[in-house]
Amino acid sequence: MPGEPLISGLITVDAALATVIAQCSPLPTEEVALAAALGRQLVEPVVAPLDLPPFTNSAMDGFAVRAADTPGLLRVVGESAAGAPFTGVLGPGEAVTISTGAVLPPGADSVAIVEETVVHTSPAGGLEVEVRVAVPVGDCIRRVGSDVVRGAEVLPAGTRIGAAQVGAVAALGLGTVRCARRPRVAVLATGTELRAPGQPLLPGQIYNSNGPLLEALLAGSGAVATVIPAVADTREAHLAALEQALEYDIAISTGGVSVGGHDLVREALGELGVTELFWRIAMKPGKPLSFGVRGRGVDAGLEAEAVPPTLVFGIPGNPVSVLVCFEMFVRPALAALQGALDPRPAFRRATLAAAVTANPQREELIRVRLTPEGLLEPLTGQQSHQLAVTATADGLARIPAGETTLQPGSEVDYLWFS
Ligand code: AMP
Ligand code: MG
Repeated sequence: MPGEPLISGLITVDAALATVIAQCSPLPTEEVALAAALGRQLVEPVVAPLDLPPFTNSAMDGFAVRAADTPGLLRVVGESAAGAPFTGVLGPGEAVTISTGAVLPPGADSVAIVEETVVHTSPAGGLEVEVRVAVPVGDCIRRVGSDVVRGAEVLPAGTRIGAAQVGAVAALGLGTVRCARRPRVAVLATGTELRAPGQPLLPGQIYNSNGPLLEALLAGSGAVATVIPAVADTREAHLAALEQALEYDIAISTGGVSVGGHDLVREALGELGVTELFWRIAMKPGKPLSFGVRGRGVDAGLEAEAVPPTLVFGIPGNPVSVLVCFEMFVRPALAALQGALDPRPAFRRATLAAAVTANPQREELIRVRLTPEGLLEPLTGQQSHQLAVTATADGLARIPAGETTLQPGSEVDYLWFS
């Protein structure tokens, strides 16, 4: 872990992340239907049970030929269509009409594309094709195994399954993949001021955006979310709702972890037996994040094996903090529970389009847009309540703590919103 674990009494982002990941043991695995695997992670590599393509075939519509016969006038002796191969063998001076994806007949070694041919009826009434150019051997042919050979590892364990992965697995004829079971996550918003979207607002109230935001974030990360109705800022309401949330693999609360008189989450979690492992990170936004664990005893269904602890994230209430804390700590935890080889946020390097002044005490995760030139443009409106501005961002740039101003052209870490 680079650097010191603390800056001015606050835990560093890297130390906090390492603390979270150290608490994540992979969940039990299950066979998952391919259609249900999107967003989940492989716990076993996908190995090709067959060659792809499974047979040598044509890349174009045209005529299967022997290259040595071209250019020339050839007798058309049959057709190989996709799914309906020619059953004979192509002899010298012969051609077979072929469509894209159709089996290359034995005897043929290349394909003359339609555009390079003229078809005639021969004096005897049969079809002839005039190939007007010399076709090189192997032209317009897709060789058996040219995408992947049988027995090869197509996707390593730990791969996150996106659309291309679903397609590749289906092409191999596999109907299922092996994944960790979905992490079960409880989401609980705290705050007397919160109303559900769709209801009229009374004075001083705001809509609960954190709940839907977290549900949406969780939907793309392999988790199953359960939303516990938002609770008012009373001790009793907090205890009752958090008690429920602690039954899950991960409990996420929002709000109430700062130092205000109505911030009750940490105290309630303490009463419920949660051990807090850190509180307050040298990060902006998201500084008051609290992270802890609570053991879940022994689960009879798991043959007396100890069940991993519930991971408890007390995220501060400002919506941008919720998004940033999720990307920096919760998504990595979900990835680790699902068997990711490297669950840490997938930062890339990119270049700032404008100057950014660093925060002396805390790393800052600023909302940026990617310009058409591929530069990171910091958005105007970087306060942690500015979710509408954040909704126009492409991702987060990571600005290290320090007494500096990063000039345009400086390289920084950049995290794309998935
Ligand atoms: P707190 O962390 O509870 O002090 O809340 C910080 C700020 O975030 C306050 O302005 C809250 O009103 C706001 N906030 C808290 N929870 C939510 C929520 N679920 N949706 C939108 N804003 C919230
Ligand atoms: Mg609050």
